[in-house]
Amino acid sequence: MKTLKIAAIPGDGIGKEVVPAAIDVLNTISEIHGGLKFEFTEFPWSCEYYLEHGDMMPKDGLDILQSFDSIFLGAVGNQHLVPDHVSLWGLLIKIRREFEQTINIRPAKVIKGIRSPLLNPKDFDLIVVRENSEGEYSEIGGKIYRGEDEIAIQNAVFSRKGTERAMRYAFELASRRKKHVTSATKSNGIVYSMPFWDSVFKEVSKDYPDISTDHQHIDALSAFFVTQPDKFDVIVASNLFGDILTDLGAAIMGSIGIAPAANINVNGKYPSMFEPVHGSAPDIFGKGIANPMGQIWTAKMMLDHFGEEELGTTLLDVVESVTNDGFLTPDIGGQYTTKEVTDEIINRLKTFK
Ligand code: ATP
Ligand code: MG
Repeated sequence: MKTLKIAAIPGDGIGKEVVPAAIDVLNTISEIHGGLKFEFTEFPWSCEYYLEHGDMMPKDGLDILQSFDSIFLGAVGNQHLVPDHVSLWGLLIKIRREFEQTINIRPAKVIKGIRSPLLNPKDFDLIVVRENSEGEYSEIGGKIYRGEDEIAIQNAVFSRKGTERAMRYAFELASRRKKHVTSATKSNGIVYSMPFWDSVFKEVSKDYPDISTDHQHIDALSAFFVTQPDKFDVIVASNLFGDILTDLGAAIMGSIGIAPAANINVNGKYPSMFEPVHGSAPDIFGKGIANPMGQIWTAKMMLDHFGEEELGTTLLDVVESVTNDGFLTPDIGGQYTTKEVTDEIINRLKTFK
């Protein structure tokens, strides 16, 4: 029996609705599978926790999390209670940084029954591997004044180690998919970091002769997402480019409420963290209508991460059968509640052959 110890942090807002839904789904999978067990421990770390304790998590919070196989997070943030920079840096970003979750992966795929703005949505099935720790989002730079002019300077940081790590992850991922990696670049405009990025990509690709590659400038690449989505399998991108591409990907999927994500610690020294793309959505919290699919798809990514790819595929097939039959929450044009959609997924999982 394989037992996975998961730290569940529902967090704020609809995180408290969709995390329990996804846990029910995972427990159902474990019942069906027999050989796999999840041991969930729930932590109430959130903005409400902050109001009571003056911190988003206890002082030894990271030590506690360290003993788990992975972290399953809902959403963090409630501007009415705690400023976003306090809540995010006190929990989400703290975990990402301290646990060296240097890669962010976001699959984007249009599934049956969900309206996408694309003309040929069925061709859209890709994964963006985003470098998550350096690049354009650096804290290096400053402001200078020249006469009456005001100049802001922002430096991007691309280490060979960080760049190579993201690229290798992308190639490994592609080797289990359609065996193609696209590098998102802009070496025709950014003259130091991007030519470096290109040269590392070329070097790394030599270690993966079975995988075809191409590189696209980020502007053209964004357009191809819409006009020629079948060009792509895995895309490796810097922090900023990846950020933009993944929001585009989520929009093409049909709703932010569907999009899954994972923050990966590549060397396995610390647990990885699985959290959907969407936030705490205070506008719909408490109404019972949050779309649970983003969190459930994120659970599928966690299954994949633990080598349970067959179960992950089964789960997504079941979700797709549910959407295809019109069990949709309001954000994707339906009338169903979080619970109704989740129950439908659970019932079908039980009878899935
Ligand atoms: P954050 O700053 O935490 O990322 P945000 O305010 O930018 O959050 P979300 O909280 O994701 O973004 O909400 C953006 C919009 O999408 C809101 O109108 C929200 O209701 C909607 N939304 C987000 N997630 C879901 C979901 N799972 N189901 C339905 N609607 C959702
Ligand atoms: Mg918000």
